[in-house]
Order: sequence, then C-alpha cells, then structure tokens
Amino acid sequence: MSRIANVFRQSLLAASFCLSTGLAYAETLTIYSARTEELLKPILDVYQKETGVTIRVVNNREAVLLDQLKAEGRRTTADMLITVDAGNLWLAAEAGVLRPIRSAALQKAIPANLRDPGNQWFGLGIRARTVFFNTDKLNASDVVSYEDLADPRWKGRLCLRTSKKVYNQSLVAMLIAEHGEAKTEAIVRGWVNNLATPPFSDDTRLLEAIAAGQCEVGIANTYYFGRYKAAQPNAKVDIAWPNQKADGVHINISGAGVTKHAKNPAGAQRLLEWMASEKGQSLFADVNMEYPANPAVKPAESVSAWGTYKASSLNVIQAGKLQRRATQLMDRVGYR
Ligand code: FE
Repeated sequence: MSRIANVFRQSLLAASFCLSTGLAYAETLTIYSARTEELLKPILDVYQKETGVTIRVVNNREAVLLDQLKAEGRRTTADMLITVDAGNLWLAAEAGVLRPIRSAALQKAIPANLRDPGNQWFGLGIRARTVFFNTDKLNASDVVSYEDLADPRWKGRLCLRTSKKVYNQSLVAMLIAEHGEAKTEAIVRGWVNNLATPPFSDDTRLLEAIAAGQCEVGIANTYYFGRYKAAQPNAKVDIAWPNQKADGVHINISGAGVTKHAKNPAGAQRLLEWMASEKGQSLFADVNMEYPANPAVKPAESVSAWGTYKASSLNVIQAGKLQRRATQLMDRVGYR
C-alpha cells in the first residue's frame, strides 16, 4: 500500500472510531436533588438541549440523600448534590460526600460569602429570610429589626415557623454569629414570649395568618411571599426589610456541590459553572423567585418589585457551623 493510501486509511479508521465512540459515549450526569423537581427541570432541559449531556435526577429530602451518599460511598452514581440552605450544604461537606472544586469561573461568579471557603459548595440562588407584616395594622417602617421583634411591645403580635425547620436554625445560627450566644438567647426568648399563636409548620401558613390578622408580623423566606401574592394579589401582607441601619437582612442560599465519588466530576463542574453563568443564573433563580447569587445578573422583575435592601455580609457557612448551638438554644428557650 502506498504511503498516501495508508495515511488515508488510518484517518478513515480514526474518523470511524471517533464516530462510533461518540455515539456510544454520550456524556451522562446524575444529580441528587432536594430542590423541588419542577424548579430544577426547566434549567436542566435547557442544558441538556445545549450540550447533548443526558442528566438523570434523583429527588428526595436532603437528609435522605445525605444518608444515601454516605451509605453508597465510592459506589454512588451521584455526580452532583443540589439542595437548599447553607446549613444542609455545610452538613454534606462535613460528612465528606463533596469534593473541593478549583474553578476561576465559580470564584468570579459567586461572592465569597455565598460559597464554602473550602470550595466544596457554591450558592446559586439567594433567598432572604425577612419580616412580613399585616398591611391593615402596620407600615413597613414599624418593622425595625429581628432583635426588636423580641421587645415586649410585640407581645401577642408575632408569628413564627417551627424551630425544627433548617431555615430558622440557620437564622438563629447567623444571629449567634453576629451577637454571640447570650444576646441571641435573649432575642429568641423574647420572640417566644411574643408569639400570637403556636409556631406554624410552613412559611405559607404563616403568611396566611398575617394576612388574616391572626398576627401582625412574622419571619419567612421571600419566595413564599412571591408565590402567595401571585395567588392572592389582594392579601393584606407585605414585605419589610429589617436591620437596614445595622447588619442587613438575613440571607441564605440554594446551591450545589460536586460529589466526592463522582464518576463524571469534570462534567459536573461544567454544569455547576454553567449554572453560575449569566444564562444559568436567570434560569435557576427566576423559576423560584430567588435572587441570582451572581451579582452580575439581575433578579426577575417580579422579584425586583419587592424593593432593594442591604443584605447581611456574613458568610452563610456560619449557618452550618453554628447550627447545633442554635438548635440547643431554641430548645432551652422553649421555641417549639
Ligand atoms: Fe423553602
């Protein structure tokens, strides 16, 4: 065979090899997700269409997924974990099921206070845990601060969600980070003394109670308010931004990390970087009325309409680090 014919034959072979492996090896990713299914699907659909990657999602509660990751160890099929609340992401990192990701794109896109200093998880959406009030009884300016809601002038006027929910554990943990344990204990005891009703099982029930005048103020996540007002535009409840002359509104994140035993860690990192990019951020945040974690991306119009606020600059990792002390503190003061 001539040299040229040989080269031609080799390149043909190489081409058919690439083609066949290209067909046989379509990239796949498996995500363990505690984020509501319908909030994740739209963004994953776009990514799969753009890249040809096939994504499989296992949905469950965060505690179940974390146990599963621990039990599966290196046998796991999960490449990525997506969940809400820095407290949960911190727990996953502590359990050793995530891996550090060194990525200039992620460092640039996600502010330092919204990601793990050890690079094991990254915030993608921001939710503020702020104060809501009954519009017949109060003005936004009547709401000063989380600390002020402990004042006896609020006796019988406050609604809270149960202390069993990680959102409140994280909120109290962040208060401990700010004020120390003794002052935080006095604040949370004050809240309990001011309760109008026993704590609610969820944020939506709490907002309904405020609108119904069962209580005048309460603490909830912003996206629950967004959903509630979309369904009930005339409900007598509105948003207030506390602590604006102090440390700012408490925020938390929904976010993700690449698993320690990922089979496709490079692919998981690419998806994470895409979710943190301008396009991915809008798709991730808007569908749940969250604020994009990437400050270069504007929130949806419906979210911007709530007004601007100063957010706490504390690193959300404190929500995890101080979670245990927070739950013990809430127990001590009888916050159910
Ligand atoms: Fe939620």
